[in-house]
Amino acid sequence: GGFQSMGLSYPVYKGVMKKGYKVPTPIQRKTVPVILDGKDIVAMARTGSGKTAAFLIPMFEKLKAPQAQTGARALILTPTRELALQTMKFTKELGKFTGLKTALILGGDRMDDQFAALHENPDIIIGTPGRLMHVVKEMNLKLQNVEYVVFDEADRLFEMGFAEQLQEIIRRMPDTRQTLLFSATLPKLLVEFARAGLTEPVLIRL
Ligand code: AMP
Repeated sequence: GGFQSMGLSYPVYKGVMKKGYKVPTPIQRKTVPVILDGKDIVAMARTGSGKTAAFLIPMFEKLKAPQAQTGARALILTPTRELALQTMKFTKELGKFTGLKTALILGGDRMDDQFAALHENPDIIIGTPGRLMHVVKEMNLKLQNVEYVVFDEADRLFEMGFAEQLQEIIRRMPDTRQTLLFSATLPKLLVEFARAGLTEPVLIRL
């Protein structure tokens, strides 16, 4: 099956075509239908596999159109600034026709810039866990409307010492959210995290 058999809405499909993606990569073929079905997943995928589009495409489908709400409806957590910037770029390109708004929350950026970004009422927040928790506390950012959360390069999130912030972020989101974990490796710590923070996750490996 190609992208056209995935049942994507026109604005999402158009973004995929505009980006020049002709056929889904193996990880996309395995994950997108399961995510669209509403399941939590643990996906073992490396950079270069097309993992970013694998979680962005179903995210756009789930969010559909911009909405007025308190706090974002989707949250993408990355271990590094570089990965967050790259993910932001993909989100803007692939999501071009959805009208969804995205904010970046990154360590090292000015707090007043982050405040301005949040003031725009973003549907999606992409960020690193340390600064995100800082913003949650200092700016009273609410995570209670998050319905779709991605832990990208989750093994690296733990290697970089974000365990405590990740637990705290999870506690502030509703239990009804859909949770996706993408990781190159699955150390014991991560398996335990997935057990506590995901609901009957489907394990996907290539
Ligand atoms: P990622 O693993 O998400 O870092 O993506 C690696 C590269 O693959 C990026 O340059 C993507 O734009 C590209 N890519 C992702 N999905 C596809 C696809 N279905 N067809 C062609 N290129 C893709």
